[in-house]
Amino acid sequence: MDRNAANRLPGVTARRGFLAWWGRTPLYARIVGAMLLGIAAGFFINHTVPEAEASAVGKYFADIGKLILRLLTMIALPLIFVAIVHVLLKAKVNARSGKRLFSLLLTNTLVAIAIGLLVGNVIAPGRFAALEPASYSLPSLDMWEELKKKIPESFVGSLVPNWETGRQEIIPAIVIALGLGIALRRVREQQTQNGEIGIQSITGFFEALYSALLIALHWIIALIPLAVFGIVTNVVATQGLNPFVSLLGFIAAVLLALFLQACYYLLRVHFQSWVSPMQFLRGGAEALITAFSTASSTATAPLNFTCLRENIGLREESASLGALVGSNFNNDGTALYEAMGPMYIAQALGHPLPLAQQPVIAVMAVLASVGAPGIPEAGLVTMVLVFQAVGLPTEYVAFLLPVDWFLDRCRTMVNLMGDMSVACVLDGKVPGKREASIEAPE
Ligand code: ASP
Repeated sequence: MDRNAANRLPGVTARRGFLAWWGRTPLYARIVGAMLLGIAAGFFINHTVPEAEASAVGKYFADIGKLILRLLTMIALPLIFVAIVHVLLKAKVNARSGKRLFSLLLTNTLVAIAIGLLVGNVIAPGRFAALEPASYSLPSLDMWEELKKKIPESFVGSLVPNWETGRQEIIPAIVIALGLGIALRRVREQQTQNGEIGIQSITGFFEALYSALLIALHWIIALIPLAVFGIVTNVVATQGLNPFVSLLGFIAAVLLALFLQACYYLLRVHFQSWVSPMQFLRGGAEALITAFSTASSTATAPLNFTCLRENIGLREESASLGALVGSNFNNDGTALYEAMGPMYIAQALGHPLPLAQQPVIAVMAVLASVGAPGIPEAGLVTMVLVFQAVGLPTEYVAFLLPVDWFLDRCRTMVNLMGDMSVACVLDGKVPGKREASIEAPE
């Protein structure tokens, strides 16, 4: 398998000279390079430009990052909307295995978010951060009022941002996506029974739209190194390296939470399947390393399937349900990160999210992780919606950019481990005994 495939961006057509070299360089290397250049440029400004003017100069660089973040914000909602409809239309699972798969995925994701929130609250890594909060304060949310707003009142209106506030209400849009996807599945069942094929054009439409959005997403992701350069330059020029050093606390907290989630999978596999944790790790090692090196669970899914089948010895049905079907919805590492990112930034701004507001984060983190495609940096794109849901300014997502490339790799490994654990649990406590009538996915 081509391990760099996920880092090569299909929408970017670099052919000769510098552009060809740039196109061949993996995304993470471009981000690290941009970060180092940003540090150098920031130091240069810091030491050559008088202090009073440094912030004016830094602002130009900050604007580069902000403009690219606007593009990320722009694409996040259509991406999640279409991803949900697309996955509901595409998943071919019969009702019984569908329910079992759903409950396994849901418990894994809820545990991930609970771990993320727990570690985020206990360690509170944002305490050590030095973000300049400007005059920002968290809006106080009335939960009942907020809940009422989540019921869509207009089909099209729910898909566009509020005129006055500019804020996008993501949950109504997701409610519509879920409703539409489930209704279209019903239509497909009815048409299949009647021998009709009209639904195929709708399925084709959503497939094409999803692919087009992924191409556009790759274009925007290709700009992330530029955003990192702009943001790092501005921060170092105006505040030195301290804000980034304080991100070390965030990195440590996320790694701890991911580690706890991995332990949970091992326990679950130990108690609910015939596979031992050692077999699980040894058999899946190749897929896990590939997930780390590509930062893409989609690119790793076929290899994961092979590892589950050949190295661990799961039945084909369980391996394909976990590694191929489940991987479309199941991004526990991403969910955990989606919960911890906004908490960290809120803490760093000196306004930790109150416990009453954390259920909003939990719901949003589930949705944002389901909608995140299994490609590098996708979780960061959908995170802007979690920020919006709790009223955090999305520009602060920028502070996570310099470390996201690394955390992305780690959470992708956990995403993959989640798929593996689901496959093992589906395989049951007895090796080799086939389950009845699970329809093979595409
Ligand atoms: N890179 C992750 C994956 O492929 C998604 C994310 O950015 O969280 O699973």
